[in-house]
Amino acid sequence: MLIDTHCHVSFPAYAGDADGVLARAREAGVEKMITVGTRLETSRGAVASAEAHEGVWAVVGLYPGHIHAQEFADPYETETVHPAETLDVDAYRALLAHPKTVGLGESGLDYSRVPDGLPFERMRADQQDVLRALLALASETNKPMVIHCRGGEGRASAHDDLIALLREEIGRGGLAKRGVIHCFTGSAEEAAAYRALGFFVGIGGIVTFGKSVMEAVKDIPLEQIVLETDAPYLTPAPHRGKRNEPAFVGLVAEAVARIKRVPLEEVERVTTANAQRLFGL
Ligand SMILES: [Zn+2]
Repeated sequence: MLIDTHCHVSFPAYAGDADGVLARAREAGVEKMITVGTRLETSRGAVASAEAHEGVWAVVGLYPGHIHAQEFADPYETETVHPAETLDVDAYRALLAHPKTVGLGESGLDYSRVPDGLPFERMRADQQDVLRALLALASETNKPMVIHCRGGEGRASAHDDLIALLREEIGRGGLAKRGVIHCFTGSAEEAAAYRALGFFVGIGGIVTFGKSVMEAVKDIPLEQIVLETDAPYLTPAPHRGKRNEPAFVGLVAEAVARIKRVPLEEVERVTTANAQRLFGL
């Protein structure tokens, strides 16, 4: 059995096709999946989807890119203007109380895209304020964090800032369930830093074509890895250019097995156990 620990099957990209997506996943041996929200609206959608479908669980949170208004084209969304969302802690707390909500995210830091007219340091400070509040909420509700972390090269490292914030919250006795650094694209050294803090790394489709992720995966122990697709994004080879879906998480497992020179069954067994332990599935 495989688990897709991070997908967005409740996004409009699958409107009208949810049953097909789930059927194809099951056929491919993917019996469980976690659908992830990125703002209040999609977090509510994730919980509704988990409620409606067996084998689907929800993670709810506010994505760092949605803290400020931004204009960018997402091939799976019709709107290019993404409005700013002010964190409503009570609304997320209510969603976290649902029995099928298994984590808080995707939240974190993203310094890779600075909205027009917003000073970089303002954006960085605002993202850190929101993340601090969400880490405290994860501690309070005893849920693992699903963390997105990217960018800052040449100005401030998002990974360095994240590690400092995680240490701060853990130092306070928080984050008992720790969490996962989703769509991990860092180095083996960065993975080791997260491992020291008790965090898993989420490996997705990039491992089927991205040289640096392949390199890093060689040195990341299987015991620290959970598998994901991030569907509809980041489609693995040989389906690149098409819409991604949870059924393809097996291609990620195969790539990890190939790179680490271990049997596919071992990758399945260990990463599935990791995901079950982390999210209590
Ligand atoms: Zn995602």
